[in-house]
Amino acid sequence: MNLILFGPPAAGKGTQAKRLVEERGFVQLSTGDMLRAARASGSPLGQEVAAIMDSGQLVSDAVVIRLIEAALAANPGAPGFIFDGFPRTVAQAEALDALLARYGQRIDRVIRLGVDEASLIARVTKRFAEQGRADDNPDTFVTRLRAYSDQTAPLLPFYGDKGVLVEVDGMASMESVAASIAAVLDGNLR
Ligand code: AMP
Repeated sequence: MNLILFGPPAAGKGTQAKRLVEERGFVQLSTGDMLRAARASGSPLGQEVAAIMDSGQLVSDAVVIRLIEAALAANPGAPGFIFDGFPRTVAQAEALDALLARYGQRIDRVIRLGVDEASLIARVTKRFAEQGRADDNPDTFVTRLRAYSDQTAPLLPFYGDKGVLVEVDGMASMESVAASIAAVLDGNLR
């Protein structure tokens, strides 16, 4: 089973993905984490994407597709992947379908975490104070939200048409979001 956790930045995708890794053995593929690791290592890729990430805009499709291609190849026999923060554009979604098809696989479920923007801004203001991530500063976060609504939200009909999209209430507590996701994965909610 391959899963996409879908939603705007700070919707809780990473937190829920990490739980599913622990509880169900999924392999989490987060392009945001991969890009942050590239920056921390000081690699040419990290240097190339740093300014774009700090501005809150999306890095190029080619860069993130290459990262996902390498991660799929590096995890043969994984019981399933959770894509977190990828795909973020229609071109990325099409590339993902083509990459998975190489392995005879597909996206089985896209779980959208439904959240409201005002609460997200409050959540990120708190995370900025606690963790100091440059792209969580309020101005940059507005740019990230705009990138989501302009470039990423158009993926909803893409997956809706394939019949794999399910929405859960992302504003509920972490525990109850996890329970809703579990119900989807166990086939009790569609
Ligand atoms: P995230 O932690 O997923 O919000 O990602 C942090 C930043 O990394 C984003 O604001 C983008 O600049 C970049 N990024 C992560 N994933 C992608 C992606 N799939 N496509 C383009 N840019 C991405």
